[in-house]
Amino acid sequence: LGASRTLWELVRRRAALTPDRPALLQEDRALTFGALHDRAERVAAGLLERGVGPGSVVAWQLPTRIETVLLSLALARIGAVQTPVIPFHRDREVAFALRASKAEFFAVPGEWRGFDHTAMARRVGARGVFEAYDALPSGNPCRLPPPPASGTDARWIYWTSGTTSDPKGVLHTDRSLIAGGSCLAHALRLTADDVGSIAFPYAHIGGADYLVTLLLYGFPAVLFERFALPGALAEYRRHGVTLAGGSTAFYTMFLAEQRETPGRKLIPTLRLLAGGGAPKPPELYYDVVRELGCELTHGYGMTEAPMITMGSPGDAPELLATTEGRPPEGMEIRITDGEVRLRGEAVCQGYLDPAQSAEVFDEDGFLRTGDLGRLTPEGHLVLTGRLKDVIIRKGENISAREIEELLHTHPGVADAAVIGLPDPVRGERVCAVVEQPPGAAPLTLEPLVAFLRAAGLSAYKLPEQLEVVAELPRNETLRKVLKYRLRERFG
Ligand code: ATP
Ligand code: MG
Repeated sequence: LGASRTLWELVRRRAALTPDRPALLQEDRALTFGALHDRAERVAAGLLERGVGPGSVVAWQLPTRIETVLLSLALARIGAVQTPVIPFHRDREVAFALRASKAEFFAVPGEWRGFDHTAMARRVGARGVFEAYDALPSGNPCRLPPPPASGTDARWIYWTSGTTSDPKGVLHTDRSLIAGGSCLAHALRLTADDVGSIAFPYAHIGGADYLVTLLLYGFPAVLFERFALPGALAEYRRHGVTLAGGSTAFYTMFLAEQRETPGRKLIPTLRLLAGGGAPKPPELYYDVVRELGCELTHGYGMTEAPMITMGSPGDAPELLATTEGRPPEGMEIRITDGEVRLRGEAVCQGYLDPAQSAEVFDEDGFLRTGDLGRLTPEGHLVLTGRLKDVIIRKGENISAREIEELLHTHPGVADAAVIGLPDPVRGERVCAVVEQPPGAAPLTLEPLVAFLRAAGLSAYKLPEQLEVVAELPRNETLRKVLKYRLRERFG
């Protein structure tokens, strides 16, 4: 099935192969691969009646539900261009995504936590708004034109997290999504007997990646509209989940929960916890394996290339603990001036804004990730920071991440972000912003600096400013710290 050219071809072939196997599980509902295909066709026909045709740009802002997957497959069936808007985004971000993508239609869940999607669509000039929560548009599939033949048109616009600047619209094709999903399935050693789960928003590019793995192997995934422990555990147990995924915050959440019930395996069927998208302290690997009794593989991805490297079950523990794993076949990685650069089928076509695309690819067609890293002798990738996260003080480059890692070893620090702030004399100065655990003694600069010095940090890297905050500003998808907000606040 990996040879399918389009996502719809993959859906059709999977439905023909194992029509009665469950594909999506949510609360008390189960949808088979056969039903997934048939229902998506009816939705496609309904959309067509409302004026959505091949090439129409359709934005959707929907929670992770069976209906959302159906809508997204229906759009793939028609050959429309879809742009998933992150569910947590409101006014400013939504308007930005709709305008930049020139969305003609907007699929919304109706009234949603006080956000008026219809007014928003009107404001940006979208011509159609339709609800796609419980009820989806529906029509007679006989009237559908043939599905798209080519998998190399840009039919997906995903949005970056906006960590370093405004979110960028990333252009993907069916082919790049299928390539990313195949690589993921390979790295995780998936089989038809797995039961997966999607705990992060399906609107995130990782959602499409996981969907492709289900279609390739024919196993089901449990969907969560609102993921929260301990409630989600009951769902994991009920469906016998073998594979749970999420970012570093998930592993920590699972561990905390396991520590509440020592001696009893939290999810008896769980074989693998897989995730990525944010740095992971090496100890976390050993804690998870020992306490949760499952494998942990961590990977590196970005909206532009959701599957860059991934650890595989069975890799040496020290590599799983300290690296982001290996690039899959078909993903070329090279390190130029310390920066990780990529080329391969799973890499995006570029950005919505051609000027941004021109900047991101180097002369050999490699995508500049903006991330700093190195490859181990075994070919595993170690990330060391982000280019934009380098502080240049008196002409010396200082990695924010190195200081953050040391700060994390201080008992009075729950989380930390290190930023460079403009300084008239030194160019930039090092500022540590710290979140303290409840009940910890208040931190001050001098003893913290003494601690870092004792931990071996060179003098020129020592923070010159300390800010203690109740909560670091984070994005909602992967809980990434938004450093530009800290720079605005303390600079
Ligand atoms: P923007 O591009 O808008 O500034 P962003 O880069 O944070 O936002 P995403 O595409 O969601 O948006 O995130 C990709 C980035 O996340 C990577 O470039 C990298 O910096 C970081 N990242 C991903 N995986 C890991 C990982 N395993 N360890 C450390 N950082 C990671
Ligand atoms: Mg980025």
